[in-house]
Amino acid sequence: MDAPAWANVKMQGEVQPKSQAEQESSIESPSQPGKIPVEVSARHVHLTQKDVDALFGIGHQLTPKRELSQPGQFLCEERVTLITGKGEIKNVAVLGPVRKSTQVELSFTDARGLGLAVPVRQSGDTEGGGDVYIFSDKDMVRAPGSVIVAKNHIHMTCKDAQAFGVKDNQSVRVKMNTSRPVTFEDVIVRVSDQFSLAMHIDFDEANACAFQTGNTGSLLL
Ligand SMILES: [Zn+2]
Repeated sequence: MDAPAWANVKMQGEVQPKSQAEQESSIESPSQPGKIPVEVSARHVHLTQKDVDALFGIGHQLTPKRELSQPGQFLCEERVTLITGKGEIKNVAVLGPVRKSTQVELSFTDARGLGLAVPVRQSGDTEGGGDVYIFSDKDMVRAPGSVIVAKNHIHMTCKDAQAFGVKDNQSVRVKMNTSRPVTFEDVIVRVSDQFSLAMHIDFDEANACAFQTGNTGSLLL
């Protein structure tokens, strides 16, 4: 039996790993419309090179630990601690490569524990984001306005988009094929040939629908 999503809470910040066999069994071909592999993104941080320099030493390069499902994205060996006036979260994953702005993606449960009221935003849009301090073993940086709850979304290629009959930035509904089915509304489709087909939800969403590794979502227009 697959481990339930909550069993992976210790793997903070990791997008759930998939073996080759799992990928092959869970990714439906576009000729089976509507079925989408789903991955759970735990809390994580994207850093600028400037913040990497400040936290880990000038010129430090993030160290890839494992590739993620989206081409070019990787989980890093580096870990950080998030601190606010109300709480802290240790051992938070860093995802690479570096970005133009530092962004912290939490679940609402995490944000509440840090005393933060944060908005749901698409990655890259941190308007109204919460403030946090990011610590490494060596140093710290302030990351004002960097904390968001990531809006759930589907990555897909142009070919997938054609097969599903959707466009970039389109809002769709996705029914989770789980033991406690939930239909997510206003799920944003993101189309690029740099992507591979996957829906990303956070831990609160995964637990809400009793998600287990390998469960899929059905796209409802
Ligand atoms: Zn994603």
